[in-house]
Amino acid sequence: MNLVIFGAPGCGKGTQSERLIDRYGFYHISTGELLRDQIARKTPLGITADKYISQGHLIPDELMLSIIDDLLDSPEVKGKNIIFDGFPRTVKQAEELEHLLQKRGHAVDAVIGLEVPDEELIERLINRGKESGRADDNLETIKERLEVYHNQTQPLRKFYEERGSYKPINGSNAIDAIADDIAAHIEHLL
Ligand code: ADP
Repeated sequence: MNLVIFGAPGCGKGTQSERLIDRYGFYHISTGELLRDQIARKTPLGITADKYISQGHLIPDELMLSIIDDLLDSPEVKGKNIIFDGFPRTVKQAEELEHLLQKRGHAVDAVIGLEVPDEELIERLINRGKESGRADDNLETIKERLEVYHNQTQPLRKFYEERGSYKPINGSNAIDAIADDIAAHIEHLL
């Protein structure tokens, strides 16, 4: 099963991905974590990515897609059930993900949309910034990321609704309650 966990910055994608990994043993592809790791190691990809991420912008689709294409062929990912966390983030990425999976005989089986109001997201991200040390968790960049989310990423909701794979989940609930709601949906798909 290939699952996309979808929603705005700070909606709880990472937290719920961890729960799903504990419960079902998915392989976790978090594009944000992957890029931050490259930045920390000062690789050429990291140096390029940092310019976009520190401004709250998305890295270019072609770059993101070539990373995913390579990753899907890597021995640690092949044959596993995957959670995509933070990807796709644009309609172009979603269309290309369909192709990338299709040519390997797979598909996106479900899209879990964690829905949280903007005011709550801003509060969560500011609080996270106090501990995470993430360069993009400051008020100015948070506002930019939310704008990017509404303009470029939110249209994916409709994209997946049209394909019948979008499942909205109330992301304002308690962490355990959200995890149970997601699990109920996954089990209904099995
Ligand atoms: P959050 O959802 O909390 O903002 P992520 O860790 O998912 O954080 O992503 C952090 C940053 O990494 C994004 O703001 C963006 O700059 C970059 N990034 C992550 N995933 C993608 C993607 N699929 N396409 C383009 N840029 C991405």
